[in-house]
Amino acid sequence: MPKRLIKKIKGLLSGNTETPIARVIPRGEHDFPEEDIRRSVLTVLDGLTDAGYEAYLVGGSIRDGLIGLHPKDFDIATSATPEQIKAVFPRNCRLIGRRFRLAHVRFGREILEVATFRGCHSKSETNENHSSQSEEGMLLRDNVFGTLDEDAVRRDFTANALYYRHTDGAVLDYVDGYEDILHRTLRLIGDPEQRYREDPVRMLRAVRFAAKLDFDIEPKTAAPIRELSDLLGLIPAARLFEEVLKLFLGGYAQAVWPLLVEYELARWLFPQSVPEVNNEPGMQAMIDLALRNTDHRLAQGKPVTPAFLLAVLLWGPLQMAWKKEQEKGTHATPALQKAIQKVISEQTQSTSIPKRFGIPMREIWELQGRLAQRSLKRCESLVQHPRFRAAYDMLLLREEAGEIEPGLGQWWTQYQEADAEERANLCQSLGGSNKPRRRRRYKNRRRSTPPNP
Ligand code: ATP
Ligand code: MG
Repeated sequence: MPKRLIKKIKGLLSGNTETPIARVIPRGEHDFPEEDIRRSVLTVLDGLTDAGYEAYLVGGSIRDGLIGLHPKDFDIATSATPEQIKAVFPRNCRLIGRRFRLAHVRFGREILEVATFRGCHSKSETNENHSSQSEEGMLLRDNVFGTLDEDAVRRDFTANALYYRHTDGAVLDYVDGYEDILHRTLRLIGDPEQRYREDPVRMLRAVRFAAKLDFDIEPKTAAPIRELSDLLGLIPAARLFEEVLKLFLGGYAQAVWPLLVEYELARWLFPQSVPEVNNEPGMQAMIDLALRNTDHRLAQGKPVTPAFLLAVLLWGPLQMAWKKEQEKGTHATPALQKAIQKVISEQTQSTSIPKRFGIPMREIWELQGRLAQRSLKRCESLVQHPRFRAAYDMLLLREEAGEIEPGLGQWWTQYQEADAEERANLCQSLGGSNKPRRRRRYKNRRRSTPPNP
């Protein structure tokens, strides 16, 4: 980063009022695809400018557009305060967030995020309502409003700090982000260590953008990550889960995972699953295959569920915990339930697992054992199970990764394609297991335990 720029940014971060000059890249000299801007976005930009405020498109949409991707998620930055934004769009605007107060403007099912320019907050300004910092230097709240140039340097990476001015189609650049985008470089604005301390999630964002955009993380931006990775321990589990979704469900999970491992961030997200803990080669192969499948499905526009990915990522730890429980003499089924409890409760120390994903994840695990028991009656009820498809996909992964002998997955593939008669034959060909089970003699006798998957 040029010295001039470092001085400028240091000045701004310390509250120096000297206004930096933006580089203005006029329409025609940049490749931002203006035709991709949705009508609703222009409505918000026009509404705010007509009311006398400044309003720009900023962040990921500009960055993605400039490198030839179709921008989808349009963030808007404005000089209007949240209340003023609401006054411009009284019917479809809602103010949200405590840590970072902003406005959501709704158009049907679409929600646009409109944020007021953030300013610098010197210690003396820090107060409950505007901004606050933890003892570790972490920004707990960032609601000090400011000017456009101040807003630019509060952003994380230079590539994320470009503004598009819809009135004349120019791109404004205060931090040499345009050059960094051209050189496919991800560079934190300001002093990397201080910026990671302010918000440790920026370390995850660095890895995510590097993977998504195929950018190199600039050496000074990369240097402190390993050493500061422990700071992720300070981030609430719910926020980390949100980041996990962005990391793994953006269509580039295969590129993200090795970077998370390389920068020692994976151990904060999935401490039980990192290679050094989980040294079974089959488990790593399974994770790789699951990430590849996820990216592939997303590229084809098919749905993916975090429950499946979580089930795979935590499968290795679950196997270990289950084995340990059984070694203590617990029967297979209660041992599995105990192991599931243990793995989930350990995982939720790092990232939360909302029930809507935790319950199906459990079911996918439980079904692994049931897929091995193939009487006709059981098979018929299994294929009706809402989680059958995901459990079957996981079974195929386990086979492909060499975790179990091949055969069972193929059998289930045939079963699903077969008609009623063929299904009966398939079950019969297994020999004996298709016979109706004898009624239990004692009502309260324990249920027989399924074989280990
Ligand atoms: P994408 O939407 O593709 O994930 P994005 O860059 O738009 O990428 P958002 O999380 O939508 O990411 O954030 C919008 C913008 O807000 C960013 O581009 C960046 O300028 C700023 N920003 C977001 N999170 C932070 C952060 N933790 N620290 C500083 N700036 C941030
Ligand atoms: Mg965005």
